[in-house]
Amino acid sequence: MDTEQLSEKILTGDRRALARAITLVESGREDHRAKAGELLSMLAKHKRQSLRIGLSGTPGVGKSTFIESFGMLLTSLGLRVAVLAVDPSSARSGGSILGDKTRMERLSREKNAFIRPSPSQSHLGGVARRSREAVALCEAAGFDVVLIETVGVGQSETVVAEMSDLFLLLLAPAGGDELQGVKRGIMEMADLILVNKADGALKPVATRTCADYAGALRLLRKRQQDPEDFPKALMVSAVEEHGLEQAWEEMQALTAWRKENGHWERRRSDQSCYWFDQEVRQALLARLHTAGAQAAMAELSTLVAAGALTPAAAAEQMLQDHLKG
Ligand code: GDP
Repeated sequence: MDTEQLSEKILTGDRRALARAITLVESGREDHRAKAGELLSMLAKHKRQSLRIGLSGTPGVGKSTFIESFGMLLTSLGLRVAVLAVDPSSARSGGSILGDKTRMERLSREKNAFIRPSPSQSHLGGVARRSREAVALCEAAGFDVVLIETVGVGQSETVVAEMSDLFLLLLAPAGGDELQGVKRGIMEMADLILVNKADGALKPVATRTCADYAGALRLLRKRQQDPEDFPKALMVSAVEEHGLEQAWEEMQALTAWRKENGHWERRRSDQSCYWFDQEVRQALLARLHTAGAQAAMAELSTLVAAGALTPAAAAEQMLQDHLKG
């Protein structure tokens, strides 16, 4: 199938064509990259947009369960939902946390849902690009909502937040007044904090946890561009399917507000520029990773270590010799 045919099929929402295209963007082969680039440019002309929702949370907090219940809610409302995962752990271990188990069985049988496990191998930068391109493919395929899931480790939240219109942080109920060691930076990214497992014996703990986080969010910051009462903390039960409608209403309200005020488009433009910047940086770094460059780096390091060359002079030489054309 040539690129044009593949593009046509994706635009009709054909899931097999979409899966095929995602495999293409995930490939490291040079001819595949060229084809992927051509395909993405072709599809970008149609300017289709989904609501991109990023979701983060530590393993065991209930991400899969939530996505399944929430995804089922969305499909029951007649929406088409795609689920993608950004899993940097697969970059390190070669095995994927998010892809290993049989997940989201109900949702995977829905004809209006598309679930793609995270790609394996490669570094976070590579994972980021492929995920971003997979999101773009899902948008072209006409999905109303694209859920992008990540495990709460390292920098993956930033990567996901930078490709999402909304960012959700899923937390578990926790006793005591400790805020579960959630990093400030991650809290700052969240538009909604969802305290999951607010059911059964955990409900009172969830209520307290939710109040703690609501308080923390109020102290943390007020985003100029958002309505007064955002970001919010809500309670949900993915298992009992409680609180999901309310969470969806909040997401829609925030989206509508941002769209009306031009913040939605601006965020997308800022994100595109962010990724442009990242691509340039990575391409530059890649040039320093060739065998020749690495050898020169080692040689210059020896000179710097011996005091024969200053770090700045050595860097200058490195850039002159290896970043040209
Ligand atoms: P993930 O690792 O974040 O994807 O978490 P999972 O969705 O695999 O859930 C981890 C465990 O928490 C499983 O045993 C789930 O059944 C349980 N769990 C998930 N959501 C809820 C919930 O809303 N309430 C309760 N009580 N348990 C839940």
